[in-house]
Amino acid sequence: MSLTAFTAPGRFWRGNLHTHSNLSDGALDPGEVCRRYQAEGYDFIALTDHFVGMFDYPIADTLPYRNNAFTTLLGAELHSGAMENGDLWHILAVGLPADFAPSNSPGFLAVDAQETGPEVARRARDAGAFIAIAHPHWSGLTLADARSIDAAHAVEIYNHGCEAGAARGGGGHVLDLLLSEGRDLTIIATDDAHFTEPDHFGGWVMVKAEANDPDLLLAALKRGEFYASQGPEIRGIDVTKSAVTVETTAAVSIIVQGRGQGTAAVHGTSMTRTEVPLMRFYDSDWLRVTVVDAAGKQAWSNPFPRP
Ligand SMILES: [Zn+2]
Ligand SMILES: [Zn+2]
Repeated sequence: MSLTAFTAPGRFWRGNLHTHSNLSDGALDPGEVCRRYQAEGYDFIALTDHFVGMFDYPIADTLPYRNNAFTTLLGAELHSGAMENGDLWHILAVGLPADFAPSNSPGFLAVDAQETGPEVARRARDAGAFIAIAHPHWSGLTLADARSIDAAHAVEIYNHGCEAGAARGGGGHVLDLLLSEGRDLTIIATDDAHFTEPDHFGGWVMVKAEANDPDLLLAALKRGEFYASQGPEIRGIDVTKSAVTVETTAAVSIIVQGRGQGTAAVHGTSMTRTEVPLMRFYDSDWLRVTVVDAAGKQAWSNPFPRP
């Protein structure tokens, strides 16, 4: 079985799904953010400013910055309700309608009479958005918090801004726990760029679509036809009962992960087609692949069923 991200028609388009501008607490105006991402070689971004009252609930109009080689998805980072630690929820919503109704969220503190995080996530998903649990480590997310976002399509496995500013960029632990409970989730890497520190061009998604079109990109995100990266490219994944074969740009480690303690790795130099034998995965019904290159940069496949 080959993963459909690699067999579907079209090509991979590089995008950043989590970005801020000066419509909320970012340093740059929306046009300049789009210009810098296009200049860096991105095909698309989602500007996802903080959807709170102190910024007048911005959903950035990025349509003027679309051109023949660059497009945008509308979105926002939603904030409503408290997590178990009392802090405010951060939920990424990409593909939001421009008229998505504000929640009662005046600022960055949870207040009474507010939608819960799960409620605002569900409302955004019902409005057509791709929903991701943002920066689990940075937020101090508990497993109960993570479980409660039943509308999530994805989890941020890497948030570059949270790594740069807090050394809390990861989300793989809570992701793997949810996968092991049977949740159907995909994996994104993002920048969460504010351009206030070295928080940009560090984590992205590669989305397979027949054209660099917002609707096609959003549909491919929802179908899971993408992978996430800090650098390495994944060019194919083929799975049998006994092995996972991964085609990549030059890699030094190919790691397969599953439930619990189930992992397997093959190491080398400049590996581009690597077969990882599937041992120690007795009770895992899901697997995923992590690629590491010589610079230590990683790429992550979406989870897939074990044959
Ligand atoms: Zn956030
Ligand atoms: Zn953010």
